[in-house]
Amino acid sequence: MARQTRSTRTHALAKLHTDIRSCTRCPLHRTRTQAVPGAGPADARVMFVGEAPGRREDIAGEPFVGVAGRFLDTLLDSVGLARDRVYITNVVKSRPFVGPPPGRNRAPVAGEVAACGSWLDEQITIIQPEIIVAMGRVALEYFLPGERISRVHGRPRQHEGRTVLPLFHPAAASHRQALRDTLRADFQVLGTLLRAGRKEGRPRPKKVTG
Ligand code: SF4
Repeated sequence: MARQTRSTRTHALAKLHTDIRSCTRCPLHRTRTQAVPGAGPADARVMFVGEAPGRREDIAGEPFVGVAGRFLDTLLDSVGLARDRVYITNVVKSRPFVGPPPGRNRAPVAGEVAACGSWLDEQITIIQPEIIVAMGRVALEYFLPGERISRVHGRPRQHEGRTVLPLFHPAAASHRQALRDTLRADFQVLGTLLRAGRKEGRPRPKKVTG
C-alpha cells in the first residue's frame, strides 16, 4: 500500500473502527456491550496488540483500561512513550467470557481469532507501524505461529517487512512479580528499537487530537 497522507489514514482508520463496532462475524457480538476496535493515532510508529477486551474494556469501549492498562502506561513511560503516541488494539475485538453474565474473561478461541483477524490486518495496512508489540500468547500466535512466549519474549523478529517484538501480556504480569520484572526489562528492548529507528531517520509520529 502506498504511504497515504496522515488525514487520509486517520479517515480510513475512523471508518474501520465504525465497521468493527457493527461487526457480527462471530458469536461474540451477541454477548458484548460494545466492540473495542483500538485507540491511537493512524500514523503511530508502534502498534501494541493484546488478545481481547476484558470486562472493563467491554464497558469502556477502550483497550487496556484498569490494572493492566495502568501497568502498560508505566511501561510506556519507562521508554519515553505516551499512550496517545502509540496505537493499542487486540487480536479479537469483542469480549470472550465464560459463565453467566458478566462472567469471567477468557482467551479467544481459534474460530474467533480467524473471524476477527482481518480487522487487525486492515489496521496494520492503514497504520503501517514500524514495530508491532505482540503481547501474550494469542498475539504471538497470530504473528509468529508455533512460537512460545516463554522462549521468545523480548527478542524482536522480522515479520512481513516489520519488526515484531513479543512480550508477556501486562495482565498476566500484573499479578506476578517475576513476570513484572521480566516485562520491565523486555520493554527496554522497545526503547532500543525506537532509538535505532530514529537514527535511521524515521520521523516521529505527530500527536493526533480530536
Ligand atoms: S470478535 Fe471480531 S469478528 Fe467477532 S463479532 Fe467482534 S469484531 Fe466481529
